[in-house]
Amino acid sequence: MRGEGCYLWDEAGLRYLDGCGGAFVANIGHGVRAIGEAMAAQATRIAYVNGTAFTNEPVEALASELASLIPAELDHIYFLSSGSEAVEAALKLARQYWVESGRAEKQDIISLAPGYHGNTLLALSASARPHYATFFREWIVDVHRVSAPLAYRCACRGADAECRVCSGMALEDKILEVGAHRIAAFIAEPVGGSSTGASVPREDYWRNVREICDRHDVLFIADEVACGAGRTGTWSALEPYGVVPDIMTMGKGIAGGYAPLSAVAAPRRIIDVLARGSGSLMHAQTFSHHPVMCAAGLATLRYLREHALVDRAAAMGRVFHDKLAALLDLPHVGDVRGRGLIAGVELVLDRDTRAPFPRKAKVAERMTEAAQRAGLVVWPNTGHVGGVDGDIIMLAPPFIIEPAQIDELVTRFRVAYDDSVVGALATA
Ligand code: PLP
Repeated sequence: MRGEGCYLWDEAGLRYLDGCGGAFVANIGHGVRAIGEAMAAQATRIAYVNGTAFTNEPVEALASELASLIPAELDHIYFLSSGSEAVEAALKLARQYWVESGRAEKQDIISLAPGYHGNTLLALSASARPHYATFFREWIVDVHRVSAPLAYRCACRGADAECRVCSGMALEDKILEVGAHRIAAFIAEPVGGSSTGASVPREDYWRNVREICDRHDVLFIADEVACGAGRTGTWSALEPYGVVPDIMTMGKGIAGGYAPLSAVAAPRRIIDVLARGSGSLMHAQTFSHHPVMCAAGLATLRYLREHALVDRAAAMGRVFHDKLAALLDLPHVGDVRGRGLIAGVELVLDRDTRAPFPRKAKVAERMTEAAQRAGLVVWPNTGHVGGVDGDIIMLAPPFIIEPAQIDELVTRFRVAYDDSVVGALATA
């Protein structure tokens, strides 16, 4: 397997357009030498030291670089290697904060459904992806759910100003139902990842959420693992709403896929409570702050800055969505949504009723296989309708994609559609 720019080549030499950055990861494109060289230089200088004994140059430089991209208040950053680990650490930080604040009864979590926060057990508990929990239900902790602002699947289609779900007010309903004294944190993806097919909440949504969390002393954790790192055209997906979360998680694209890297960012006011109390977050992992992983992250952030790639994601995102909108002429494309260089194309059996295909037709899976045959890598998602049904094709190409390559992506998408959705209909 080999990659360069937006393309991948398999062992047989077949070429694929990477239409989803693997899993929304390959933000700067494949095969960037500068990142590999920075990692090699760091590995030969010092590959590993543990944070209990020493800090290291790349972790310090990466923290400063990342702090300049996220809201100034979130200036304490902890680096791990996967999104799930970042979510676990963020939730544990929220819990420890309340215990050390003398409010140990604040132990419940609220999350959005559908939603995804990872596969380790607390992150999986927070994820409203029932089929991922199939074999582990006994080990899952109870997490309260609020319906995600998924306009396409809401009765009001996002248009009713008073809609509790689309306005975010459903969060307040849930907090009042459970009791604010019990709620430690609300965790949510600012722009949906695959579980909602890149659903973008309404203008008022996050401002309302912020006010509700403030009103009820609930920590707001923005999970930017999928939608962050510039993917939506701003560094964080929350940025355009002018809202600052209490804790932010990042992952996937922050090191462009060159190394596994994730981060949890929090403000001094939260960290100080721990510092004055027990002394530190009760969470340690061998590979947190790993020098080579941080060198990869630092080189990636510098590359993004030097090539103005987040601005490019915004500009190309507009071209991308203009061109993807043309797919709505296909009879089973119900919705195309997203922002910047992330999009979800929802495939439905009936456009008027928005009825999904029967699950047994495996439309998303067939479409993904057909796309690969057509030289396009996409990411399938199912289960957002009633926990089982629903077919979404996720697209999230590298930020360096050119308009002609977006045309190529759309053309290959159509080939895959003809080769699969029509075939699936025969078995529906
Ligand atoms: N949070 C979100 C929003 C994600 O999309 C994902 C992964 O898809 C995760 C957390 C978990 O990240 P990882 O797979 O790196 O553990």
